Amino acid sequence: MVSGNKYWKLKYNLREAQVQNDLGVLTFGGAFSNHLAATAAATAAMGLRSVGIVRGEEWAQKENQSPTLQFCKQKGMSLRYLSRSNYRQKETTAFLQHYQKTYPGYRLLPEGGTNPLALQGCAEVLDENDHPFDTICTPVGTGGTLAGLAMGGHTNQQFVGFSVLKNEGLNTQIKKLNPNTNWTLNTDYPLGGYAKTPPELIEFINDFKKKFTIPLDPIYTGKMLFGIFDLINKGLWRWGNNVLVVHTGGLQGIAGVNQRLAQKGATLLD
Ligand SMILES: *Cc1c(COP(=O)(O)O)cnc(C)c1O
Repeated sequence: MVSGNKYWKLKYNLREAQVQNDLGVLTFGGAFSNHLAATAAATAAMGLRSVGIVRGEEWAQKENQSPTLQFCKQKGMSLRYLSRSNYRQKETTAFLQHYQKTYPGYRLLPEGGTNPLALQGCAEVLDENDHPFDTICTPVGTGGTLAGLAMGGHTNQQFVGFSVLKNEGLNTQIKKLNPNTNWTLNTDYPLGGYAKTPPELIEFINDFKKKFTIPLDPIYTGKMLFGIFDLINKGLWRWGNNVLVVHTGGLQGIAGVNQRLAQKGATLLD
């Protein structure tokens, strides 16, 4: 099954890959990346090949410690491991040319999958049934999902993104993807930084699941809802009253986070 925002972002990219008769897709991500998992599953379902370039050469020796990498391999993705310093070059022309040469016929997609076709997929997620909602919330990594959702927004709607990483330039980056003024970025809830999972977050997610029987992932949706509840409880909520919260998926990441929490002897996600 392929679901979540990474699927929306892949939809038109993979359609284009089919139209162009590409052999497969090559893309980039960390050892717990939702994007790598979604790419592996979606390409396999379509009969396309896939290559995943993974951040951190140490993962070559401990693939079995990442449920995400295990899943990618099961789906037939070829994994290549890069040192963090090499991985950092992943947007340079020389680097991309190298991979395009090494893997002819492969479509290169950036880390997180954000590109113009990805925005087009996200712009389709909401429809006229969602028009009564005046405020739409979504978690933000690269901002492609926020930018795309806002592109497809109705005139009465304001989009509020919750950043899961500390990145000063993020607002500017998203402005380049979508220059409209119908979205804002809240940067107050990375809760220690990307992929950091402090005990108060784990407790919030476990309580939330008990109360509402909705599972949240600890990297994206959990932090967004932690932020939304915190703002409401503190009387700081300043957007509309009819709020739609987008569940972007990410549940495949829970197993990996639990492995790391268990190693620390910390409370696990239910
Ligand atoms: C990647 C991801 C996001 C963030 O998407 P961007 O388009 O990079 O901002 C949000 N939620 C989940 C579950 C994700 O996997």
